[in-house]
Amino acid sequence: MSATSETRPRASVIAAERSGAYDAIIIGAGISGMYQLHRLRGLGLSVRVFEAGDGVGGTWYWNRYPGARFDSESWTYGYSFSDEILREWEWSEHFAAQPETLRYCNFVADKLDLCRDIEFNCRIRAVTYDEIANQWEVEREDGGRERARFLITAIGPLSAPTMPTIPGVESFRGESYHTGTWPHEQVSFANKRVAVIGTGATGVQAITEIAKTVGHLTVFQRTPNWCAPLHNRPMDAATQARIKATYPEIFAVCRESFGCFIHQADPRNALEVGPEEREAFFEKLYGEPGFGIWMGNFRDVLIDQEANATITEFMRRKIRQRIKDPKVAEKLIPTNHGFGTRRVPLESGYYEVFNQPNVRLVDVRETPIERITPAGVKTSDSEHEVDMIIYATGFDAITGAFDRIDVRGMDGRRLREKWADGPRTYLGLQIAGFPNLFTLVGPHNAATFCNIPRCVEQNVDWVTALIGHMREKGYARVEATPDAERDWTQHVHDTGKRMLFTQVDSWMMGINSNVAGKQKRTFIVYAGGAPKYREKCDEVAARGYVGFTFR
Ligand SMILES: Cc1cc2nc3c(=O)[nH]c(=O)nc-3n(C[C@H](O)[C@H](O)[C@H](O)COP(=O)(O)OP(=O)(O)OC[C@H]3O[C@@H](n4cnc5c(N)ncnc54)[C@H](O)[C@@H]3O)c2cc1C
Repeated sequence: MSATSETRPRASVIAAERSGAYDAIIIGAGISGMYQLHRLRGLGLSVRVFEAGDGVGGTWYWNRYPGARFDSESWTYGYSFSDEILREWEWSEHFAAQPETLRYCNFVADKLDLCRDIEFNCRIRAVTYDEIANQWEVEREDGGRERARFLITAIGPLSAPTMPTIPGVESFRGESYHTGTWPHEQVSFANKRVAVIGTGATGVQAITEIAKTVGHLTVFQRTPNWCAPLHNRPMDAATQARIKATYPEIFAVCRESFGCFIHQADPRNALEVGPEEREAFFEKLYGEPGFGIWMGNFRDVLIDQEANATITEFMRRKIRQRIKDPKVAEKLIPTNHGFGTRRVPLESGYYEVFNQPNVRLVDVRETPIERITPAGVKTSDSEHEVDMIIYATGFDAITGAFDRIDVRGMDGRRLREKWADGPRTYLGLQIAGFPNLFTLVGPHNAATFCNIPRCVEQNVDWVTALIGHMREKGYARVEATPDAERDWTQHVHDTGKRMLFTQVDSWMMGINSNVAGKQKRTFIVYAGGAPKYREKCDEVAARGYVGFTFR
């Protein structure tokens, strides 16, 4: 298919502008919102996208911190729907850095001429379903209102940055940044004393990069993570050509794997093989690029405690080997969760940073941070004076961006209240009581545990087909039934329960100690795997969209 073959039906947009209502409004212009806009245009709908940032790209627009890059292989991450885009775009590295991915998003936006239907610098603060008009009213932060029949949230799984609840943050006199809202200007670390708070996937990337030029670095760690080597390398011409020639095969492999990564789980169980064979397999995975050690490991390491203990012990040894000071090594070894039961940060020399004489690790479980002072970070045993504080404290994941919008459905019912005890959804795409609202990459959707564009394409295609179906049949309103929602939510819980990660506190279980009300574990991700999810969505469509009511 040609990327530019679909043109917007001007007449429909003009009609929408006159009547004051669009066929569809999309919130967010990241990977999901961009593709959804393209597909709905293809149906001939009038569409408007509202985006808080001043450019496309979402994650890749906001996360400009040093070291930000893919954990997905670049060539598995790009959109697969357009041969023209696949042919023309060249990834320069196996795991591209943020500036390149942002360039890619802009390249796609230009190719598809997306920006003319996107309003940038426009944050949506409230959305309300008007039952009489069967329209969603969208309220912008500047007070302006727009209406549409369909509302599609493409607001991102990791787009609501959270600050730590440490007193005194405002009092700090030096420079301070959150990694998720990093400035567009260059930030220099040379000759500066820098503090980084947080050692999740973002912190690991940022710390490794900052350590290359910093004067002195203090890392404040609460929960160490099991980090595995990324093994990034530039893409040579021959590899580039081979990848371009085999895109269909590459995407076919992704399609069949649990999380749509290029890595397929090994069919063996960890305890079925002898210790030497197991060790050799772990060593091989440790030496290979990407998430293979997480997603391509023995099939039981993420579901069986004993199997998990084998890889956890291997990773423990690796950390000890790489850190010179045994006391520092022990601090960097997680003690409250096994390997792979929290999001695995991929690293490019992270552990070696702690061998540098100008880097200090502060374990805040031993010496908690009491406050931020005008001069730096005060822990229970000393004050660390610094010139810059970097908050690598992550996001209010998956439901956070929803919580930041006042979403009101039928009878004024608030989504926040409906989800107070955890999300309830049908297919992670619809919610009973919120007709004509679709939630891309929302909770309970396979995209929450995925090489995201692969799942996004499936989500968007499915939603587009459903809207197409409605137009064909003359329906104006679709809503998940309470029964379908109950059954899907139960299925999400049941498939989750067998995974070890549901026994651990992390954002994958809805925990964020910096956000009020997010201290209780909840099932927010879908852990049944992308193939099973796709099968279920296809079955629902084939059975005439069973579980939905239409009017
Ligand atoms: C540092 C980092 C690295 C990552 N690496 C990978 C990776 O290697 N592989 C992978 O698969 N995934 C990765 N992810 C996940 C990443 O979020 C997805 O891959 C993907 O970019 C999500 O696209 P999206 O369009 O769904 O959401 P986003 O990219 O988050 O876009 C959502 C957009 O919605 C906008 N928005 C939100 N709320 C509002 C509102 N109220 N009003 C207006 N606009 C709003 C935001 O400004 C944002 O631009 C990474 C995430 C981070 C943070």
